[in-house]
Amino acid sequence: MRPDTRPFAHRHLLGIEQLSREDVLFLLDLADGYVELNRRPEKKLSLLRGLTQINLFFESSTRTRTSFELAGKRLGADVVNMSVSTSAIRKGETLIDTAMTLNAMHPDVLVVRHADSGAVELLARHVRCAVINGGDGRHEHPTQALLDALTIRRRKGRIEGLTVAICGDLLHSRVARSNILLLTRLGARVRLVGPPTLLPRTFAAYGVEVYHDMREGLRDADIVMMLRLQTERMRGSFVPSTREYFHFYGLTYRQLEVTKPDVLVMHPGPMNRGIEIDGVVADDIHRSAILDQVEMGVAVRMACLDALTRARRAGA
Ligand code: ASP
Repeated sequence: MRPDTRPFAHRHLLGIEQLSREDVLFLLDLADGYVELNRRPEKKLSLLRGLTQINLFFESSTRTRTSFELAGKRLGADVVNMSVSTSAIRKGETLIDTAMTLNAMHPDVLVVRHADSGAVELLARHVRCAVINGGDGRHEHPTQALLDALTIRRRKGRIEGLTVAICGDLLHSRVARSNILLLTRLGARVRLVGPPTLLPRTFAAYGVEVYHDMREGLRDADIVMMLRLQTERMRGSFVPSTREYFHFYGLTYRQLEVTKPDVLVMHPGPMNRGIEIDGVVADDIHRSAILDQVEMGVAVRMACLDALTRARRAGA
């Protein structure tokens, strides 16, 4: 297969919102190639040799940060990780000061995660390099949606026409927002399922169907995407108790009785077993695609790094 060297029209990857259907397909096709590379014993390329990638994480992360680190290293970049506990923010530096300081070190790519929605976009306005949003508040997590789409496309052969039920804490979820935008753009039918406190009716404005009853929402679904109960973003109580939440909204085999028989179960992680998902369902190798999602994550991030550094590598 000849490598796809077409330029990518965007300087940053801040959200799915800015991407066209063609942009999404371009990144997914590119990522498909990286999945194959990652399965080989020799995984290293020199595509990004000489380029510097800084992973700047103001919020904790396991999967996303490691995945971006591996992605950058496999493409040959120098990768530096900065987490909030070691950063000057603790000493009172503003986000813009941090951006300008890092900018002066001439990085080529900044991967940023922040607890505030819009913070990554603000930072992007003050630096010369490419910025990738690694998750900002409740707003967007574009690489998660891309890796979810790649997982679905590889397991089901398509996205168009599938019924995808996204369930749980939709109110606080940037993963849900990015997925709703991407999946509807690619022609999937999206249903949102959750308690009224975590899924206000206003979500219907996204062109999705809203359900408060799990079995109704899961009926005939091809994909069930579970979301974590994001207690760290809650002020006050949104559910009576986690036990009651599991009873009504936890994914169990009983809830799955109404889906398509070949349903695929997904979760972006980190998972709360026994709260939003039963451990046995999560570990069911026939139904769960949770570890596939992790694998696809590295490939998708390689594709994003590749695409966003193309102009720079061409000397533009
Ligand atoms: N890891 C995902 C995120 O950063 C999902 C989650 O935290 O529940 O948004």
